[in-house]
Amino acid sequence: MAAIDPIELAQALIRRPSVTPADEGAIGVLADALEGLGFTCHRLTSDERGGPAIANLYARFGSEAPNFCFAGHTDVVPPGDVAAWADNPFSGTVKQGYLHGRGAADMKGALAAMAAGTAAYLERHGAPKGSISFLITGDEEGRALNGTRSALEWMQARGETIDACVLGEPTNPERLGTTIKIGRRGSMTGRLAVRGTQGHVAYPHLADNPLPRLVRLLAALIDLPLDNGTAHFDPSNLEIVTIDVGNPAANVIPAKGEAVFNIRFNDTYDSASLEALIRGALDAAGGGYALEFEITGESFLTPPGPLAAIVKDAVEAATGLRPAYSTTGGTSDARFIHHHCPVVEFGLVGQTMHKVGENVPVADVLSLTDIYRGVLERYFRSA
Ligand SMILES: [Zn+2]
Repeated sequence: MAAIDPIELAQALIRRPSVTPADEGAIGVLADALEGLGFTCHRLTSDERGGPAIANLYARFGSEAPNFCFAGHTDVVPPGDVAAWADNPFSGTVKQGYLHGRGAADMKGALAAMAAGTAAYLERHGAPKGSISFLITGDEEGRALNGTRSALEWMQARGETIDACVLGEPTNPERLGTTIKIGRRGSMTGRLAVRGTQGHVAYPHLADNPLPRLVRLLAALIDLPLDNGTAHFDPSNLEIVTIDVGNPAANVIPAKGEAVFNIRFNDTYDSASLEALIRGALDAAGGGYALEFEITGESFLTPPGPLAAIVKDAVEAATGLRPAYSTTGGTSDARFIHHHCPVVEFGLVGQTMHKVGENVPVADVLSLTDIYRGVLERYFRSA
């Protein structure tokens, strides 16, 4: 079995310009590396929820339970202004101790560390009493229609179960070793519309101005108490993100007004109970309105238990830092995985993710490789 150099593997991944939904061979680079370790790789393709076909990967070493799973994504966001990058964003350059390129932090560096950490584990300990698997998608940065969820459905249909999962999103805000994510807030967007009758401002009795109603409804949303936070979550938060009337004339009462708000919510709610609360508050404020919701993700939590403790100990052993548990930030594919098994997230430092000039210290990728090896050691020791 070949050892894997995590930096070389990360460079090979970055050199595949896998901007969602394109794969450009990125999944294959990882699958080849895992096959070299003795993994059985299932290269999956899904377009079942519409949109372009997506490349996904499920790879497994061993056939026994428990099955420890590394999860992540090979797709990346677009590079933005290519001219603003010092080097080609898909060159994977290493300069002065930093690995540069789109996906270095989010999250090709972490994928390489997972593969290299697994190689190091197998080299030291041989086959574990159980299995190691990789659940990798090419559809995380997009709408996640045909990604992790599809792969999990494929696994379920085959009776493939996973027992614990570490997802390699960049969880650390500034320094490797500070932050493990054990859950995420939910997200939903409300589109509120109020209609009236257009008319001349000098003859308001001949018109019906929808804007006072819109203002009252929005005031009701602003004043609505949500919660004060829970054991592992910050308070839920509602933000009005736009108010649109589009009326350029000072002497015209407009026919309609619209507003959009987004709510990041904790485990006090699910999207249905929150929608009921919102509609109740708007109904109490009075007046006709139309409201549509788009749910991006429910809130979820893996309460701190054995898996989180294993990751914490492995992080401390490699970095000397005792990471904190957090549920901040946007949602992640853990929202699909947590239905199947405990899942926690730990990866690189996210400071430059999605930005021009994305980069990550080489030392962090090496340290993360040690952390992932340490996670496997602790997991299979306790299994
Ligand atoms: Zn990511």
